[in-house]
Amino acid sequence: MEKNTEMEFPAFPYKPYSIQLDFMKFLYQSLDRGGISMLESPTGTGKTLSMICSALQWLVDRKNLDGLKNNENGKLSEDNEDDDEPDWLKNFVLNKEPDLAERKKSIRKKEIGVRWKGMGKKEEKEDVVRDLFSYSEGEGKKGRGNDEEERDGKMKMGVDEVDEEEFLLEEYDSEGESGGKSKRKNVGDDDVLSSEEEEEVDGIGKEEEEARLRVYFCSRTHSQLSQFVKELRKTKFASELNVVCLGSRKNFCINEEVLKLGNSTRINERCLELQKNKKREASKMKKLGAGKRVRCTKASSGCSMLRRRKIEEFKNEIIQEEALDIEDLVRIGSSLGTCPYYGSRRMMPEADLVVLPYQSLLSKSSRESLGLDLKNSVIIIDEAHNLADTLISMYDAKVTVSQLNHLQSHLDGYFKRFRNLLGPGNRRYIQTLMILTRAFSQILCDDKNVMGHTNPPCDAEEIKSASDTTMTINEFLFALNIDNINLVKLSHYMKESNIIYKVTGYGDKAITSRKDAVGDREAAGEEHSAISGFRSLADMLFSLTNKDSDGKIIISRPRQICNGQEGGYIKYVMLTGEKIFSQVVDQAHAVILAGGTLQPIEETKERLFPSLQLDRLPFFSCGHIIPSENILPLAVKHGPSNQSFDFSYKARSSSAMIEELGLLLSNLVTVVPEGVVVFFSSFDYEAQVYDAWKGSGILSRIMKKKRIFREPRKSTDVEAFLRDYKEAIDTLSVSDPTSCNGAILLAVVGGKISEGINFSDGTGRCIVMVGLPYPSPSDIELIERVKHIEGLEKTTSSRNLTSSVYDECQSVDVETGFHILRRCKGRGKEYYENLCMKAVNQCIGRAIRHINDYAAILLVDARYASDSTKGSFAHSTGKLPQWIKSNLVSTTHNYGEVHRLLHQFFKLHRKKEATFEQN
Ligand code: SF4
Repeated sequence: MEKNTEMEFPAFPYKPYSIQLDFMKFLYQSLDRGGISMLESPTGTGKTLSMICSALQWLVDRKNLDGLKNNENGKLSEDNEDDDEPDWLKNFVLNKEPDLAERKKSIRKKEIGVRWKGMGKKEEKEDVVRDLFSYSEGEGKKGRGNDEEERDGKMKMGVDEVDEEEFLLEEYDSEGESGGKSKRKNVGDDDVLSSEEEEEVDGIGKEEEEARLRVYFCSRTHSQLSQFVKELRKTKFASELNVVCLGSRKNFCINEEVLKLGNSTRINERCLELQKNKKREASKMKKLGAGKRVRCTKASSGCSMLRRRKIEEFKNEIIQEEALDIEDLVRIGSSLGTCPYYGSRRMMPEADLVVLPYQSLLSKSSRESLGLDLKNSVIIIDEAHNLADTLISMYDAKVTVSQLNHLQSHLDGYFKRFRNLLGPGNRRYIQTLMILTRAFSQILCDDKNVMGHTNPPCDAEEIKSASDTTMTINEFLFALNIDNINLVKLSHYMKESNIIYKVTGYGDKAITSRKDAVGDREAAGEEHSAISGFRSLADMLFSLTNKDSDGKIIISRPRQICNGQEGGYIKYVMLTGEKIFSQVVDQAHAVILAGGTLQPIEETKERLFPSLQLDRLPFFSCGHIIPSENILPLAVKHGPSNQSFDFSYKARSSSAMIEELGLLLSNLVTVVPEGVVVFFSSFDYEAQVYDAWKGSGILSRIMKKKRIFREPRKSTDVEAFLRDYKEAIDTLSVSDPTSCNGAILLAVVGGKISEGINFSDGTGRCIVMVGLPYPSPSDIELIERVKHIEGLEKTTSSRNLTSSVYDECQSVDVETGFHILRRCKGRGKEYYENLCMKAVNQCIGRAIRHINDYAAILLVDARYASDSTKGSFAHSTGKLPQWIKSNLVSTTHNYGEVHRLLHQFFKLHRKKEATFEQN
């Protein structure tokens, strides 16, 4: 590094603490070096600001350096290269942009080449997947020579039927040079940017800017990204760099009609559908001639927020502003009447910093659709504590029984109507899709596989596990007798042809004509499940082209309930993240994984980049900025009646345990001021405890001192709920401290509150963690992941695939789950324990958000107070963050001791606060 050798970070708005300075230096050096690095800094230590000031300083320095290099480059002869130059700079400078037209041409070639290369490879590899679509000479002739029949079909169409021609698929050539393409070109509309056009435009922009050095910052939630932009605005980079915020349509859409659909999938579908309809109408108008008018319906007029001229206006306005977050972009889009979703995407080519959610960056299809080019870039992934699980879950696919039913009826209806008009390619593919959907439905409804439950079990967990089984991809294909279908070609067909829109469009029309009979709402529901169903099926088929060992298929059969059936789905669960992550790492110059707690880093390394040696993985970890007297972590072994706390799966529901916990809280609320947050392992357990306390009178004892709040199950209710909780603390805490004083919040691990919500100051003076929140061993997906990580998988070759495959399938109930977990001695066991302790760390990390904050943390379970016992799945307090671990009081002899420590702790801080107020 030639510049900034003293590692100054002038953009940092305050005098940095030493740990902030260390963090920034480490990050800067990591970016210089390139590759993967991990940086851990507890929440409340100014991590985000440190990341901004270091990474963007590096970006600016590099750009300046690059400017110098470029100037010098003209003077340097080729044989005068500096061997000491960093690799990234060599690549960057040497990667001169060729003429745009030439580039576009070569990219086009590359894309087609890659597509064919991929297909070829797959075909070679998967010799079990034979080509179903090779038909006999006779059939082919019959198919191809069907022109007469097609002509007859067309001639027989009435006036209404001519309209239906718009749903006819263009002939598809799966064997041609194009690698499977529709033969006719779609007709577009010059005034409107369709998503495809937009993607195309973005794509060109992308290629123009291929070598642009930029930083991608991604986090998990919308509010975390907004928080990032807020911090960015404290620095000069907010105005000096071009910043773009990307998000989902759900976050950005300003079309009220679309937005009111509520759910992301439906918003996406409706948006795309509007644009398809617009194109369809434009095509119709062209056919009818300029002079004739076509009756425009709401659906056919496209989205009025998507006009090319307006999008440019939006872009020009935004570019002059300093960094904006999603809310700002939506506000500006609304005032201009322009779609902020497509508007923000148009800004990508000029962006120095792109702020975006995990999904948009880590999912290959999202990257492609957004036109993100990661080459030479710096990628910062914040909140990376669960990165491996988050990443692989993006590649899961699921199709439900009801989706399959809708699909079948749509495909049947379409095929019946158009079979004589379709070319041989489309006919074969549609018939294959019909075979597949039937086979999928059949395996879900096959009675012999419902594990012999004549009387439906009453317990929900039991019902669920009894009907779930797992298979490998190959087992699934053989079991369904679809192993001879070329799924690569079929997936390609679903992507390239317009099958989804044609079939659902036709189905739509049929539904509209039946609307009077079935009612609008029902019809609209059916319409949307058909499109989602198609997308889910397409995802599922694509998943089935993965390597056999990459994932598992879960077959969850519909469950018998009192008044019928519920559930039922086929799901592909991705088990390995290495390949997916390497697609990101291989392109980027540097990848930074950051978070409040990243330990254990070995697990992340093993699951995402196992080839990197641990001692070669740069890792930074720092303590907290708070003084140690501001935190009181206690392992609470006994309750006030000296009952030992045991919240293990078998013991937690005992009335004695629930009662003892109630007594503990009744005592705590007398000593802890302001807000107390209690975390339970699940909503169900919280409800069980709450009901028991209500009956025993414990609840009214607690309510004498604190108002009780319970986390709502619906995430949309959380915001208002938290407002009320805070208000209760503010108002009650200032009133008479001897009466009701503050509030207690009963929350759930893994719920909305446990991650991303801050309980600073009075809102979280005490965090109580009830038990060790191990995930349920009856969770079939979890058990598959544990087995995969432990290496317990059987190899496919060891199985007799010709015998009944059901005998080999795994079904998991709680006991089986425990049995499998007990067999795990290595990484699988470690992974299971880590899941639990990561959840604990997330919950207890909600408190203490700044240097003057203080809180007590109570880990309530005897297992927190002792070391792991052999053969059990006990915790390890070694997995707590260092700043908590080093202050942990792990041996208290009785509750009296706990109470005394709490009393002293809060007395000290009351005194401190009083002194501070006097001064
Ligand atoms: S184009 Fe934009 S505003 Fe219109 S529906 Fe799509 S996301 Fe919403």
